[in-house]
Amino acid sequence: MAGDRPLPLPDEDTQFFWEGCRDGKLMILRCNDCGTYIHLPKPGCWNCGSTNLAPSQVSGRGVVHTYTVNHTPLPGFEAPYAIVLVELEEQKGLRLVTNLLETSPDEIEIGTPVEVVFQQVSDDVTLAFFKRTGGAA
Ligand code: ZN
Repeated sequence: MAGDRPLPLPDEDTQFFWEGCRDGKLMILRCNDCGTYIHLPKPGCWNCGSTNLAPSQVSGRGVVHTYTVNHTPLPGFEAPYAIVLVELEEQKGLRLVTNLLETSPDEIEIGTPVEVVFQQVSDDVTLAFFKRTGGAA
């Protein structure tokens, strides 16, 4: 109970997520009994109470649910950049906080289709970002 950290650190509960990123897969914890996706990882299913949970690969496709533009530079990000809440197509309410690559903040609209893209940031760590789904009219 150390309070909120700005970035989640890989631990036992989130190790599958980071390993998935390294393999180029977006993994979300899923209930084996009712099929509900659970993010962030929890010991039990909020829908049915089951503890029979396992990581499951999702498509990585979703839409921008909402976003906020940050004007303070961070290492690796040129300001301004957008912090985006992406809702995955697998389940209503299944949302990830992320950043959009290759997209300036004024190109983002709520409902913009996006897809996951993985970026290796160190020998051990690969992060999941999103970008606008390319090509489609
Ligand atoms: Zn369940």
